[in-house]
Amino acid sequence: MKVNSEFGDVMVEGVSKTFDGETVLAKIDLKVASSEILSLLGPSGCGKTTLLRSIAGLENPEEGKITICDQIVLDNEVSIAPEKRKVGMVFQDAALFPHMTVEQNVAYGLKKSDPKKQRVSELLEIVGLPNFEKRRPETLSGGQKQRIALARALAPRPSVLLLDEPFSNLDSALRIEVRAEVNRLISELGVTTIFVTHDQDEAFLLGDRVAVMNNGKILQVDSPSIIYEKPSNNWIASFVGAVNLITCKASGHKAETPIGFLKLDQHYEGDVELVLRPENLMLTNGDDAEIEIIEYYGHDSLVTVKLNDGTKLKVRTAPATAHLKGDRVGLEHKDVEVSAFGKTS
Ligand code: ADP
Ligand code: MG
Repeated sequence: MKVNSEFGDVMVEGVSKTFDGETVLAKIDLKVASSEILSLLGPSGCGKTTLLRSIAGLENPEEGKITICDQIVLDNEVSIAPEKRKVGMVFQDAALFPHMTVEQNVAYGLKKSDPKKQRVSELLEIVGLPNFEKRRPETLSGGQKQRIALARALAPRPSVLLLDEPFSNLDSALRIEVRAEVNRLISELGVTTIFVTHDQDEAFLLGDRVAVMNNGKILQVDSPSIIYEKPSNNWIASFVGAVNLITCKASGHKAETPIGFLKLDQHYEGDVELVLRPENLMLTNGDDAEIEIIEYYGHDSLVTVKLNDGTKLKVRTAPATAHLKGDRVGLEHKDVEVSAFGKTS
């Protein structure tokens, strides 16, 4: 995967949109490179769908510029119609046309000159539903509907694929299966994709990069591991996974914490807030803390401990911990650098 940050198949520059006087998109800048899968991650109501619909041409932002594959599709003077934007979109609820067959649905965006039958059967093959041409939407399962919606979006060979929470109406087993399938497919096709989700796991799993959004603003765009390990503020740190944020004093490369001195990723001075991920903490034999809660997740457990000074910390352990609620334990941080928020020096 090449990520070229200078040029992009999608460029959103200073895009703003209000609904009833409320700002929903506030000067959004976003670049998506050719063949990149960009996850747009944010809580419900933060403006993800509005941004995606603006790129697709289904909303008209008041301000800003949008370029798709070097074509300006929106600025002060230009507003190109959705069907001329070379984008394909898949919605949360598939939104297949109920009165049409699968074949008619998939062929919907094709030009008169396209060899319809052949292209439809090609796409049904691609999405793993060959020979579904004559089926009607109401005879399809949720997962099958989403695959047909994807086939319909891909049929006119869009330059950019826009996916708006396409898996969120599927139950968990099917969700994992369809997600893996779609991931394989869009990676193979190499189509530039913006994938909207409120689910951090999903954003990390599918995205080459993740754009974190809140309150109509893009807060950080980075690889999943950077977003997780070096979030640019404490809201992002908490939104993308379990975290302990502890306030303490730093001096240079280290901070003094209730569990001893920890190594920092940069030089800081004075008050800092540390980002301690539960998987970087370890329970040991000792008398630093008491176990308050054990949450069992199958693949691991999340244990909340209370230190002698009252500080509570979450620690990720092997699924079957040897400990019980109320046990006294020691606590250590792994030998990894900790990121922090505060004044750097
Ligand atoms: P998300 O997809 O992140 O959940 P949306 O883009 O759907 O967020 O919505 C962002 C905000 O804009 C919400 O507060 C929502 O109520 C509001 N909104 C979205 N569409 C409209 C509309 N057509 N009219 C009025 N308000 C809207
Ligand atoms: Mg939405």
